[in-house]
Amino acid sequence: MKTAFLTGITGQDGAYLAKFLLEKGYRVVGLVPRRSTLDRWRLEYLNIADEVEYMDGDILDLSSLTRGIKKSKPDEVYHLAAQSFVGSSWEQPILTAQSTGMGVLYALEAIRETDPNIKMYQASSSELYGLIQESRQSEETPFYPRSPYAVSKLFGYWMTKNYRESFQMYSCNGILFNHESPLRGLEFVTRKVTHAVARIATNLQKELRLGNIQAKRDWGFAGDYVEAMWLMLQQSKPDDFVIATGKTSTVEEMCKIAFDYVGLNYQDYVVIDPEFYRPAEVDILLGNPEKAKQELGWTPKTKLEQLIHMMVEADLQRVAKTP
Ligand code: NDP
Ligand code: GDP
Repeated sequence: MKTAFLTGITGQDGAYLAKFLLEKGYRVVGLVPRRSTLDRWRLEYLNIADEVEYMDGDILDLSSLTRGIKKSKPDEVYHLAAQSFVGSSWEQPILTAQSTGMGVLYALEAIRETDPNIKMYQASSSELYGLIQESRQSEETPFYPRSPYAVSKLFGYWMTKNYRESFQMYSCNGILFNHESPLRGLEFVTRKVTHAVARIATNLQKELRLGNIQAKRDWGFAGDYVEAMWLMLQQSKPDDFVIATGKTSTVEEMCKIAFDYVGLNYQDYVVIDPEFYRPAEVDILLGNPEKAKQELGWTPKTKLEQLIHMMVEADLQRVAKTP
């Protein structure tokens, strides 16, 4: 039986990945930081909260990370923990640099010190492309980060590559484009929209305030993307891969899909509010997942419409239970 050690197990990707690995027969150990209340709602939603082992630790505390890895003796580490919201990264730039950037180095160091043969997945991001240098972004496209979040991810990306080249560690970057699900945090635009649609449809809310609805994203389903993370660690040699759908849509188009699903016209409810504009915007992202298709045999399965419908449906059910 293989063991996987996950940081960020209580987050969106952590929950889907844990479920995926448990189904593959893995023992799954999750590093869980101390919070005033431990919130396992995502793991509970997927019915796996009791199938996972938890270890007390924080990615900003190298000793806890090293202890967790030493104790659990994993074959694979999936480093997912981070301050993951771009918007907050301007409000908490230093914390973001520490957790989203330095946290990666701590994970690499903990592995290097414990057993450099442990494989590591690093959750890199399409935000690295920022002010895009090519219309479709691939593994070869130069980076131009546009937020403290993206700059921090850039550090993590290069450290992951550097430890591979310096110490022959099996460390990989998954350059994942935006991926969403019913387990997405409410601050991200897709979930903000689907949650609002469910509340508006049930007369709990009157309007939805958004920022730049012309921004375009390549949105996929988190449940599809965690398979790619695992595949990256099953290859004969470590490498970096773009994971995307290869299609891009505006926030406005995504809103229309969500409101249409409940028979409402988005134009009657969406209000543009400058509060949600960003100091520097990433106007458009569009990934080229060809390398992942060729080398990993990975393709996305869920279309944007299906994804948004799934999210609205889940939010309608939640709102019916607890308005
Ligand atoms: P989430 O925000 O849902 O999850 C982040 C996780 O990190 C949570 O479990 C959180 O725990 C944990 N965490 C935060 N700070 C610490 C810390 N100091 N010590 C230990 N754990 C901590 O993010 P996602 O699941 O969506 O994303 C997973 C990773 O993938 C992140 O690194 C993200 O930046 C990256 N990524 C995500 C994309 C996406 O579209 N979802 C796209 C590309 C990259 P808690 O809630 O208790 O703070
Ligand atoms: P990101 O790509 O990681 O920043 O994911 P988000 O879901 O937070 O944002 C995606 C895009 O939606 C960005 O270009 C935002 O500027 C845009 N957007 C427009 N209105 C909003 C909003 O109200 N909230 C968020 N989070 N994003 C918004």
